[in-house]
Amino acid sequence: MDFSHPVQQKVFFDIHTNLPRESPGSDHSTLQALKAVAQHLPDEPRIGDFGCGPGSSALPLAKALPQAHITAIDLHKPFIDDVAQRAQKKDLTNITAYVGDMTDPPFDAGDLDIIWCEGAIYNLGIDNALQLWQRYLSPQGIIVFNDAIWQAPASKRPPELIELWSEYPSMTDHEGVLRMIEAAGYETLDHFILPEADWWDSYYTPMEDKLATLEAQYANQPDAILPLQEARAEILMRRKYAGLYDYCFYCVRSRKN
Ligand code: SAM
Repeated sequence: MDFSHPVQQKVFFDIHTNLPRESPGSDHSTLQALKAVAQHLPDEPRIGDFGCGPGSSALPLAKALPQAHITAIDLHKPFIDDVAQRAQKKDLTNITAYVGDMTDPPFDAGDLDIIWCEGAIYNLGIDNALQLWQRYLSPQGIIVFNDAIWQAPASKRPPELIELWSEYPSMTDHEGVLRMIEAAGYETLDHFILPEADWWDSYYTPMEDKLATLEAQYANQPDAILPLQEARAEILMRRKYAGLYDYCFYCVRSRKN
C-alpha cells in the first residue's frame, strides 16, 4: 500500500487502532523472555521499550517488575496516548511513554539495562539495530527482541509468501539471526518460537473481526480497498503457510564491559 495516499493511510490506521497488540505475541511470551534474562538484571532495571505500539510489552513488564522503570517510545502518537491510558487504568506508575524515534533514541550512552523490542526491529533490520543500540546499554546490557524468521529453506518458499515478506528483504532464518547477533558483539542467552496462538488470540483474530466491519464501511470507496486486501492476505498466508515462517524471540547480552 501507499502510505502517502491519505485514504489508504487512514484505512491502515483504522485497521491498526484499538487492537490489543500490533504484532504476534502474548503476555505469556513476554514474561517467558523476561524470565530468560531475569538473573542478569540489576535490582532496579532501566528498560527502553522501542516501537512499543499500544503497550503490548511495556504493560506486562511494568507489572512484573514494579521496581523497574520503563520508557516506552513509538513514532505514532495515538499509540503513546494508548500506553499512557492503559498504564493509568492499571495503576502502573513505572512507565513513561512518549513519542520517540528508535533510530535516534532519546537516551544517553549507557542509560538502559535492557532494550525491549517486540515486532518492531524489522524497521531497522536486526544487524543495524543491534549495532546502533549497543551504545545505549549499560555494560553487558541486554536486548530482547522478536522478529519473523524463515523456517522453510529458500527453495521451498511459495512465491506468494515471498511476495508478502518482500517489504522486509533482510528477513532471514534462525541461523542467520544467530550470525548477526554474534557479529554485532552479543551472546545469545535464549531464544524461542512464539506459539501459534500468539498469532491469533490478540492479533489476527481481533484484526479479522475489524476487517469485516471496515470492508462494509468502505464498500463504496475503491481507493480504500488496498490496505484491507493486504491485511486479509497476510492473515490468509498464516492460515496456509504456518510453519514455513515463524516469529522468534531472542534474548541477547552485549559482550561490552
Ligand atoms: N511492539 C508493539 C507490539 O508488539 O504490539 C508494536 C509493533 S508494530 C508492528 C511496530 C511499531 O513500531 C509501530 O507501533 C510503529 O509505529 C513503530 N515504529 C516504526 N518505526 C519506528 C521508529 N523509527 N521509532 C519508533 N517506533 C517506530
